Amino acid sequence: MIRPDLFDRLALAHAERERAQLSRRLRSVDQNDGSHLQIAGKQLLAFCSNDYLGLANHPQIVAALKNAADANGVGSTAAHLICGHNREHAALEEELADWTGRERALLFSTGYMANLGVLQTLLHAGDLCVQDKLNHASLLDAVRLSGAELKRYPHSDVAAVQRQLESRPDKLALLASDGVFSMDGDIAPLVHLATLCKKQQTSLMIDDAHGVGIFGKQGAGSVAAAGLSQHDVPVLMATLGKAVGTCGAFVAGSAALIDALTQSARSYIYTTALPPALAAATRTALRLVRADEWRREKLHKLIERFRRGALQLGLPLPDSTSAIQPILLGAAAESLALAQALEARGLLVTAIRPPTVRAATSRLRITLSAAHTEADVDRLLDALDACIPSAIRTARRSAIHQ
Ligand SMILES: *Cc1c(COP(=O)(O)O)cnc(C)c1O
Repeated sequence: MIRPDLFDRLALAHAERERAQLSRRLRSVDQNDGSHLQIAGKQLLAFCSNDYLGLANHPQIVAALKNAADANGVGSTAAHLICGHNREHAALEEELADWTGRERALLFSTGYMANLGVLQTLLHAGDLCVQDKLNHASLLDAVRLSGAELKRYPHSDVAAVQRQLESRPDKLALLASDGVFSMDGDIAPLVHLATLCKKQQTSLMIDDAHGVGIFGKQGAGSVAAAGLSQHDVPVLMATLGKAVGTCGAFVAGSAALIDALTQSARSYIYTTALPPALAAATRTALRLVRADEWRREKLHKLIERFRRGALQLGLPLPDSTSAIQPILLGAAAESLALAQALEARGLLVTAIRPPTVRAATSRLRITLSAAHTEADVDRLLDALDACIPSAIRTARRSAIHQ
């Protein structure tokens, strides 16, 4: 027997990806001024960032980062439990808890790590985790790491959730769902899920990475907008690298939850704390997220404008009230070709293909931001009108609205 070679297998997988037009390409951005990016000397109007409120370049946030770095340096120098926990981290955690109406909050370096830490802490082998099929990859990876049994239900299908929970009445159970789905932009049936979880003695976790900043009073998120408290949604997770415009993530909930994460979440314990200056910058960002209601109002107006225009053009646009407005195309090659045609017109929109989305649901993931203007949205609509063949339009619309 000759042992096969790992790199031969990589080469095969590479060839297969190329053939199926599923290879991803890394591109370096030279400059980012909010809505416009410069890539390889070319200015592109971007509709693919998650900077939904246009805060990533805000001068006050930049100044907060600089001032804190001047005063305290850059590196946190250690994990939180060693000596990396700075008073900026502590203050930010208190402000995040206050914002989301939770008892306490805990910072993580990324949302991916937060989800790994939560599920690994709460779930053991033999427990049950019920998840929406369209949940973010980090929630799926997290349940694998926890060793719990995973059951995935069809997107937002509350009756299916009920069947899955009833099929394992004896097990400790967690239901985890995105609040706003990252590739579709729609909102989970949060109130129904919370009601069902109470009946089924199941804990509910919502990942609101795309809901905070956008929905609810002071942008407290989709959970707040649905009127759900810590009692209804005991585990709330959200990221800081999207609407908040900086980087990192947090989990908010009871003191008991936060204490358990501090003691047991491996992705919290065994990693260097975020730079304190980043926490300082995020505190400034959070003040703006809460106070600048006009950013949310502007964003929602732009979303409405885009949807009105896109539906008039007969584009296959699923129901979404969030900043994520995908145009469902189906084939990967078609999505890629369309993204390239838009780029030739100076617009950057990313084609999202398997394995990020299911086969035959490749799409353009268009995201809007308060950094855009009405003229930007109109330019996007004109380009879509010019680039999308009529065969893709109304014909597929009926299928999508089912
Ligand atoms: C982006 C995202 C994450 C990961 O957050 P990062 O901070 O980028 O690691 C987790 N969940 C959802 C739903 C996301 O969209």
